[in-house]
Amino acid sequence: MREHGCSEESLLSFLSMKKKEDRGYDHVLSSMCSIPHPIAAKAHAMFLETNLGDPGLFRGTAALEEMLVGRLGALFHHRGAGGYATSGGTESNIQALRIAKRCAGVRDPNIIVPESAHFSFDKACDMLSVEMRTVACDETFRMDSDTVQELIDQNTVCIVGIAGTTEYGMVDPIEVLSDIAVDRDIFLHVDAAFGGLVLPFLENPLPFDFALPGVASISVDPHKMGLSTIPVGCLLTRDNATLHLLNVDTPYLTVKHACTLSGTRSGAPVASAVAVLEYLGREGMRAVVAGCMKNTRRLIEGMETWGYPVAVNPDVNVATFNCPETPPGWLVSRTRRGHMRIVCMPHVHRNVIEEFLQDISELPCSKN
Ligand SMILES: *Cc1c(COP(=O)(O)O)cnc(C)c1O
Repeated sequence: MREHGCSEESLLSFLSMKKKEDRGYDHVLSSMCSIPHPIAAKAHAMFLETNLGDPGLFRGTAALEEMLVGRLGALFHHRGAGGYATSGGTESNIQALRIAKRCAGVRDPNIIVPESAHFSFDKACDMLSVEMRTVACDETFRMDSDTVQELIDQNTVCIVGIAGTTEYGMVDPIEVLSDIAVDRDIFLHVDAAFGGLVLPFLENPLPFDFALPGVASISVDPHKMGLSTIPVGCLLTRDNATLHLLNVDTPYLTVKHACTLSGTRSGAPVASAVAVLEYLGREGMRAVVAGCMKNTRRLIEGMETWGYPVAVNPDVNVATFNCPETPPGWLVSRTRRGHMRIVCMPHVHRNVIEEFLQDISELPCSKN
């Protein structure tokens, strides 16, 4: 590093130059993150120095974390849910598998995940030395529950169902998985990182949460559809005690135990997540989700008009198409099967969709 510090002016101009190299969200159709709600940014700025790794020092911030867990637990039909604010879906999934593994206490543990599972499960299984058994999806890109039954053995410590898959926006048959989990006494983790803040606000929500008796834990990411600042996820457990299976002694902190994976962790995004939920309420969240779903349907209708059929009709605001080309200037992503994938996040407004469809219509292979 430099010997003598530079002036604030030259530093800030350097930083804004770097910021300009970033891609703004305006033509980004591939991301599950979005521009934070203005109230999230305000709340975040108020809690910059807070550290939830030592919650005794930040009692108010710790109360906000409890509030986040309480609100999300209630939203998922279980007011007494345990949980804590993670850094996102990856940490939540790792921690859920740690709990499941600890609960079962078997020698050579395996878990059962759909082929559509997020890559965080690859990381988790590697770290935890757990065998991953993958279940193919049916023609609607949902986990095939018959195969789940076949793959279970006495070393199966967890079944994972996805509520809003990252690639295709599908919800696995969680109700059936819940029955299997109860029947065979296996921990069922629902990865609702994306869908957890979409599904409860739909008119006819698919069942995925603690209302189903087999669901033992849920991951949900406020930093995706919760419009908070980055990074904040939340792991929720039906039974508070299971979370504390992960406790380690923390002798030199203000609290005696911690169950979290990270040590030092900022309270700022947690405050921002609570702020958005409080500020918008269920009514405001329903409006956000309704807007995203309406745009998703409009996008699908428009793409089909130009001759690009959907790969599957999605349960949440992720749309996928048989469309090999991408119009210049747009950022879409491609699924492992090669479908064009577009996430209709809140920053993807109706006018953005219309502009994209206009550019699509000008592709050489579009129907007109
Ligand atoms: C985004 C996502 C994750 C990973 O979340 P991060 O916040 O990126 O760690 C896990 N599962 C699903 C279904 C996701 O959509």
